[in-house]
Amino acid sequence: MKCEICGINEARYVCISCKRNVCTSCYRPMLGLCTDCAPVAPLKEENVEELRSLVSNCVKEGDFVLTSGRKSNYYVDIKGLITQPAALQSLGRELSWRGVGYDGFAGVELGAVPLVVAASLYSGKPYVIIRKEKREHGVEKEHIGQVEGKRLCIIEDVTTTGETALRAAKVIRSNKGYVDRVVTVVDREEGAEEILKSNKLELVPLFRISDLKNG
Ligand SMILES: [Zn+2]
Ligand SMILES: [Zn+2]
Repeated sequence: MKCEICGINEARYVCISCKRNVCTSCYRPMLGLCTDCAPVAPLKEENVEELRSLVSNCVKEGDFVLTSGRKSNYYVDIKGLITQPAALQSLGRELSWRGVGYDGFAGVELGAVPLVVAASLYSGKPYVIIRKEKREHGVEKEHIGQVEGKRLCIIEDVTTTGETALRAAKVIRSNKGYVDRVVTVVDREEGAEEILKSNKLELVPLFRISDLKNG
């Protein structure tokens, strides 16, 4: 049987997403997906390590009060890192293939915005920006971009309690969109995974804080 993408080579694999039979050159073995379903290849292992050390450098030790009001002896801030194109490109690439099968990405302003844009550029899929809080007297909508009828993958920079992602999911669901996955750059491992799971959301971290601190 010929590859159902290029029509030239012999098909050797079946894409787990679209179920088509594809050849070696139209298949990404790491993902089990064809090149149509995953147009961007994941980073090579050494580049993932490079990215890990860049993100590790964003972990600052000290006494901090988090947005939630909780105290912490460390703080993760990748907002500065993602102003750098090389880091943003690597993250966009890693985030985009974790959204295979989704119609697009969604992120809460401000931290996730560069990330959803990067994922969108890599994957060719649209994105949605979710506003932080509903403005009391404003006429602004809670989100920018198309949500109704779309299956969206939420992207976060840093996940702590999962509250931000949960609110994003509520906005998407109340606007007739579908969401069941949150991809985060750093999971602080403070209970978000369980809270999100109980709200039918799977947390997919690129890095866990335990990997970053020990590295
Ligand atoms: Zn092929
Ligand atoms: Zn496919």
